[in-house]
Amino acid sequence: MFVRVRSGGIWGVEGFPVEVEVDISQGLPSFSVVGLPDNAVKEARERVRAAIKNSGFSFPLKRITVNLSPSDIKKQGTFYDLPMAVGILAATGAVNPQDFVILGELSLDGKVKRVNGILPVLISLKKKGFKKFVIPLENLEEASLVSDVELYGIDTLKETVDFLNGKISLTPRSGNLNLKEEKFSIDLKDVKGQELGKRALEVCAAGLHHLLFVGSAGAGKSMLAKRIVTIAPPLDYEEFLEVAQIYSVAGKPRGAVATRPFQSPHHTSSEVALVGGGNPPKPGAVSLAHKGFLLLDEIAEFPRRSLEALRQPLEDGVVHISRASSYAVFPAEFTLIGTMNPCPCGNYKNPYKVCTCTEREIKNYNSKLSEPIKDRIELKVWLSPLDEESLMNLPESESSEEVRRRVIQAYEIQKERGKVNSRLTNAEVERFVLELMDREAKSLVKEAVNSFKLSARSYFKLLKVVRTVADLEASDTIKDYHVAEALQFITEV
Ligand SMILES: [Zn+2]
Repeated sequence: MFVRVRSGGIWGVEGFPVEVEVDISQGLPSFSVVGLPDNAVKEARERVRAAIKNSGFSFPLKRITVNLSPSDIKKQGTFYDLPMAVGILAATGAVNPQDFVILGELSLDGKVKRVNGILPVLISLKKKGFKKFVIPLENLEEASLVSDVELYGIDTLKETVDFLNGKISLTPRSGNLNLKEEKFSIDLKDVKGQELGKRALEVCAAGLHHLLFVGSAGAGKSMLAKRIVTIAPPLDYEEFLEVAQIYSVAGKPRGAVATRPFQSPHHTSSEVALVGGGNPPKPGAVSLAHKGFLLLDEIAEFPRRSLEALRQPLEDGVVHISRASSYAVFPAEFTLIGTMNPCPCGNYKNPYKVCTCTEREIKNYNSKLSEPIKDRIELKVWLSPLDEESLMNLPESESSEEVRRRVIQAYEIQKERGKVNSRLTNAEVERFVLELMDREAKSLVKEAVNSFKLSARSYFKLLKVVRTVADLEASDTIKDYHVAEALQFITEV
């Protein structure tokens, strides 16, 4: 007896259809699975066998062969337990799987457990025309981000069989996507002073430019950096889906949230936690920050190896996980925000404290951030702590909501142009920045290149930031004061 059950799998964050083919024939009782990695097969077989028995069905004492097709694609995850069990029961005539796509992990007692990565599977199978899905009840909430499909959430193998046999009826859930924005208890207003730092954060949020805050302890660097999420533009639908799929694979569903992701791994985090890895491979912080922000607080304290691992995602927007047992590619297009002390003691250039570091120590400390990373950073701002008296006399600052209005407007302008400013190519900088500069702006840029001895790279970074500053004012033409403001952000650290 031969039966085919539809299912699906993932590789990285790509979903694809899988057919679970079950053949039961006479012969010595055996149970073999083809198309899964060896270590996974053994565990899957045990779960399927126990779940069938413990759900009150009899496990056929015959020769059972299961093939997961396409067999040449290495499969990850535990999607196949439930379709295998259904396939075996179908081959004995106990159930008819019809044309449902069936996914789920089984526990030994027959309960259907949630799987990681259900979103990429549903999204890719929907594109291929599949409409009806039997999935773990525990995944239903997460899965209902996908519209125009019928989702049946089930809790046990027994329930699956009863449903497929028409003994019980379930109301299908269909996606109802209503993207919401997170409400924050923090606000830019909470940070006193630091107007230049706030403005840099605004420019960072609007043009998605990488940013570094340097300054002594107590200057409020990380307090400021954390507020990026309160002013950033929302994800659009396409971006939302990309992000949601990564979180699904990571086993951390985010829900219908349009707020840009924010990750701030500690400097003691492992390299795997930072860039991803494991078996099956899971995305790390750089991928969980995809389309959002990666805050590295005290960036100089991160091991050099970890910082070096950021080079590839900063360059290509993806991260390749390559381990002995696994290989995957995850998206990792994030905006980096770093904070760092100016020296080991933290008091260099602090007007209220004394720095006890030698010049050499300060130099060594700064070289912890390698040139390739520094090269990528477009905005650098020095933050000094304020004394109590100046703090008391500060005027009320703008709220996140007010700043965000400008950010969103600037972001929309870039979207119409087709690209966010930080990602402009040199040719696009020519077209969208240089050609739109008035005479005074051009001469100021020329002057800056000469007096700061800007490298070609710094020159293009400056021009991209100039574009964002002008966009924040909704000005198509670039004026000299836009250039002057952008120049404040390129101060070498
Ligand atoms: Zn010092």
